[in-house]
Amino acid sequence: MLERIKTNLRNLRCYHSANELEAVVEKAKSNDFSYLDFIDDLLQYEISNRNKNRIKRYQKQACFPSLKTIDEFDFRFQTSINKREINEWLTFTWIDQRMNKILMGPPGVGKTHLTLATGLSAVHNGYKVIFYTMQNLMEEMIIAETEKKFEQYLKKMLKNDLIIIDELGYLPLQPVYGNLFFQLVNQCYEYRSIMITSNKLFNEWGTFFGNQTIAAAILDRLLHHSESIILNGDSYRLKNVNSNL
Ligand code: ADP
Ligand code: MG
Repeated sequence: MLERIKTNLRNLRCYHSANELEAVVEKAKSNDFSYLDFIDDLLQYEISNRNKNRIKRYQKQACFPSLKTIDEFDFRFQTSINKREINEWLTFTWIDQRMNKILMGPPGVGKTHLTLATGLSAVHNGYKVIFYTMQNLMEEMIIAETEKKFEQYLKKMLKNDLIIIDELGYLPLQPVYGNLFFQLVNQCYEYRSIMITSNKLFNEWGTFFGNQTIAAAILDRLLHHSESIILNGDSYRLKNVNSNL
């Protein structure tokens, strides 16, 4: 009987329950579970393990270069934003509403840290996230375009709830490629969320994209439903260097 139930559970793709059936049955016996308690316990076991695996999978797929958390972020050092505002982000209503976030500021002020921490928390809340540097993203898009697979590439990207693009503006973009970026932003408009970090203010994006018209079209879509934050202050990387000088 036990083996038949296990086979049936596997046929229903309930692998966690199948693998741990004996243990769950034993627990039910020793706790005098009712029939309903037992079914409830088995289903909870299956669902919580599936969720754990899904989070592990999403975290791997997100390609975070490192794992950062908000708890590690020192809001006394970075005062352009406070913990209350960040806690509001971490409810992720802005992702549900397909809104964007743009973080601007000089190097070392915590832009990448905040996006990584937001991304990781989003994954733990069940959202699909992908992390790119602008340079990596453009390289992938150019390859996809050259191989005539750009449509497919966009489709794959749009499976994510949140696309993080770090370091827009550091390396100049050849004007001919601005159009590829525009297509991504245009497809995400009111459909997926984008989070961008940049060392450039919006009025410099024209120069970065080498084309004012494309930059204006990109900003038009990005900014329609978005929040922009300017982070100021000293570089956290140089914190100890400065105090040692
Ligand atoms: P940016 O992307 O703005 O150049 P980063 O987010 O990469 O800066 O920050 C540089 C380093 O300093 C990272 O290791 C990051 O974790 C750390 N850091 C930056 N700001 C803070 C902060 N306010 N509290 C704690 N660590 C910080
Ligand atoms: Mg950075």
